[in-house]
Amino acid sequence: MHVLKAAHEPGRVVVTVETDQVLTGCPACGVVAVGHGRREHRRADAPLFGTPVLVVWRKRTWCCPDPGCPVVTFSEVHDLAAARAKLTGRAICWATDALVMDDTTVAALARHLGVDWHTCWDAIETEATIRLADSDRPAGVATLGVDEHI
Ligand SMILES: [Zn+2]
Repeated sequence: MHVLKAAHEPGRVVVTVETDQVLTGCPACGVVAVGHGRREHRRADAPLFGTPVLVVWRKRTWCCPDPGCPVVTFSEVHDLAAARAKLTGRAICWATDALVMDDTTVAALARHLGVDWHTCWDAIETEATIRLADSDRPAGVATLGVDEHI
């Protein structure tokens, strides 16, 4: 992922990024795809020195040249953010970690991310559910205590 531009706007930092991917295959038929331009996708990222960060991902779109293929166009995939996610993966981990370890609220985290409460909670709830499903999570625990916050 390359940073093309970073700008400070009132109340947030805006970072424009794109990948350098120049070759990919169609996910349905595997034929080498043809570039079809880029589309900007906006995602909230983890805050920078307490300032909300908006990532503008110039996401590459591709076209399958095979006329018999059911896929016409598709977008690149990257670990930066899942498809249709409103937060980057890093922002989701940051918010979930903060909710677990710090004395904070979803409202405060949403404010730090520059998103509304529901956007923040939806992302945290999904991540927390995945983490709680890890059966090895309590491994090595000798004593269990209850904190008034966690
Ligand atoms: Zn195809």
